[in-house]
Amino acid sequence: MVTLSTVEETNATPFESQVCDATSAATSTVSLDRILELVHAYWGFNTLRPWQEEAIRATLDGQDSVVVLPTGGGKSLCYQVPPAITQQTHIVVSPLISLMKDQVDGLTACGYPAAALYSGKSTDEKNDIMRDLRAGKLRLLFVSPERLLMSGFLHELDQLDIRAFAIDEAHCISQWGHDFRPEYRQLALLQKRFPKASVHAYTATATQRVREDIANQLQLTNPAMLVGTFDRPNLVYRIVPQLDVYTQVIQAVQRHKDEAVIIYCLSRNDTEAMADILNSTGIKARAYHAGLSADQRHRTQDAFASESLNVVAATVAFGMGIDRSNVRCVIHATIPKSVEHYQQETGRAGRDGLEAECVLFYSGADVMRWQSLFEHSAEQLKNAEKLIAAQKKLLNEMRRYCTVPQCRHRALSEHFGQTYPQQNCHACDVCLDETEAAEEATEIAQKIISSVARLDRISGFSFGVGHHVDVLLGANTQAIRQRGHDQATTYGLLKGTPKKTLTHWIYQLLDQHLLTRTTGKLPVLELNEDSWEVLRGHRKVRLIRTAVKQVKETSISTISWDGVDRGLFEHLRVIRREIAEQAQVPAFVIFNDRTLRDLARRRPTGIKHFRKVHGIGDAKIEKFGKLFCTEIETYCNEHDLSTNIVIDSRHQADSSPTSTPGNSSSSKISKSKLMAFEMFSQGKSIDVVMAALSRARSTTAGYLCNFIEATKPASIETWVPQSTYLDVARAADQVGFDKLRPIYEHLDEKVSFDDIRLVVSHVRIQQN
Ligand code: ADP
Repeated sequence: MVTLSTVEETNATPFESQVCDATSAATSTVSLDRILELVHAYWGFNTLRPWQEEAIRATLDGQDSVVVLPTGGGKSLCYQVPPAITQQTHIVVSPLISLMKDQVDGLTACGYPAAALYSGKSTDEKNDIMRDLRAGKLRLLFVSPERLLMSGFLHELDQLDIRAFAIDEAHCISQWGHDFRPEYRQLALLQKRFPKASVHAYTATATQRVREDIANQLQLTNPAMLVGTFDRPNLVYRIVPQLDVYTQVIQAVQRHKDEAVIIYCLSRNDTEAMADILNSTGIKARAYHAGLSADQRHRTQDAFASESLNVVAATVAFGMGIDRSNVRCVIHATIPKSVEHYQQETGRAGRDGLEAECVLFYSGADVMRWQSLFEHSAEQLKNAEKLIAAQKKLLNEMRRYCTVPQCRHRALSEHFGQTYPQQNCHACDVCLDETEAAEEATEIAQKIISSVARLDRISGFSFGVGHHVDVLLGANTQAIRQRGHDQATTYGLLKGTPKKTLTHWIYQLLDQHLLTRTTGKLPVLELNEDSWEVLRGHRKVRLIRTAVKQVKETSISTISWDGVDRGLFEHLRVIRREIAEQAQVPAFVIFNDRTLRDLARRRPTGIKHFRKVHGIGDAKIEKFGKLFCTEIETYCNEHDLSTNIVIDSRHQADSSPTSTPGNSSSSKISKSKLMAFEMFSQGKSIDVVMAALSRARSTTAGYLCNFIEATKPASIETWVPQSTYLDVARAADQVGFDKLRPIYEHLDEKVSFDDIRLVVSHVRIQQN
């Protein structure tokens, strides 16, 4: 048997010198160290993420598999590593040219031999690729399902002893998936045609039905089902009542200046109106929808990928091909039509594992708009009722997700059948306590419901939302005067309330089934049994105010920016963009944002330190090392910044929020900080947290400092007695805040450094 250390290759590249020939060796002998060595050499990562090792081993062992990892979970690495170890060629089936191109660009930049065959290639290019394929020079070849299934191409593959096929975006094979592609169905023939090859399906789609369907359709044999955690802790979810959606969207986009933002809108017209408004306020944005020409769509996609365009207002058509990993915000200007859509669309945020915001502006009126769209679009169809009922059910689940004030991470995990272990995610509007309940909500609800009862009685029939709003606000309209509704006791009962707020409250009552709205062309409000419960005072009502209290900084964002010089980060971004433009590849192919942040944190000026930065493998050290080190050195000299900073392993390895505790020592440390934050938010003392996390006191006090900086509490009396606080603050006033020792000495060494540090942090926050 060939063992790793005894394989000898002639003309071997540095990565090939210790490869294991899977045709002759039991692949399970490939050690984790060997896999990590290769991963580090190509990609500069120090650890594997959850399920990557299992997925890699399934391919090495020739066992079919279905790998389900959330977007950004690192599925690509699972099929990239095995052929690089075994020195074979594997085939990747991918549904979109843009996805193939991005993958090949990214791999080529890492020095990994890969190519893609698609219709846009010239005959010469195709011939070159086929020559390389036959010569065994490629580790991965990307093809569309259509090309793979061409008889000539299949015949070529017959000659090549292909041992594995990876099916990317495998949910396309299932009609239960959201991107069903009939041509994927024919991939079932792979099993018969290539009996020696294993087939591996990759998807982020969470539902069990789709997973099982994939395995059945591909006729997989005893597949390893590798299903990761769907939760994306780096995403901050916010559901905000919709008030003035354009203003709200602008404010959200402004929170992400110069960063990538996708705004999902309901219709083509909505995307264009949104892009126009953003442009008129100086935010460069473009619309994207299926009604645009293919050329217009490509130009927008390319501009977005190259970072020359940051904001796109789109319909759901802006989807699978969007591979930009540093999307920092996904906005839903309207409710999506299912939780599955929401998960897919928000999944495009933060693929690089860094923090990203997902904000949805919810309005009950949009729910009604979807419903009438379903009814309208199904009019011509057979079995329309069944279809509409199914669509309404999905929409209703989404509506519930928006309206039930429960941790959004928990609700999403539970929707997909997974449990959510944390009490407080620190990353959604509910857990960050950003929503505000309206005072006297029950009285407000009673006034609205009485208006419905009163006007029904006066006129003998019911009215729509708009009319009730006008009556309650005491408007002077012809409709009100004609019907004598200005004489109703409820006329003007909620005068002074903003119209949008009142409208929103009525929709909240509908969402809570405290009122009913009829369907049809002219829907009207009616009372139900629960309405009477409210009127009789037997039921309390909760209504949310239409503005969030304040958008808070989250602990995830504090950690990922920890120690990063933002000026340098922006400077490096510009350099990255220039290189990418020259090379005509998306910017993230050069370095992703996490690598840029790590560069701006460690500030290496020589290759020795450059090598330690996250996500930089050998090829990139060679290509970009000198250039970036020189730029960093110049910038740091000009801005008086220290360089070559040595950092604990926390930032070095993958601190991806998709990593689980225990997966790597470094991710454990980040997780510890998050756990510490959670405990501090519950008012736990340093000693308790220190014991729970098995950390040194000074480390735990450091976490507390970060917590104080992130959450800006009004007082820190929970951790430092008021008298000590005042002593330290007074001493610092006299001897300055810059160093702790003078304060310590000024206080006759009676107050601990930890306490001094905490007070100084807090006083600084108060001063800013
Ligand atoms: P997916 O296909 O599951 O959406 P990708 O394969 O695009 O995810 O990976 C998302 C990001 O995570 C990429 O930037 C990738 O380079 C990075 N990544 C993958 N595996 C690791 C790892 N083990 N350590 C650090 N980063 C990783």
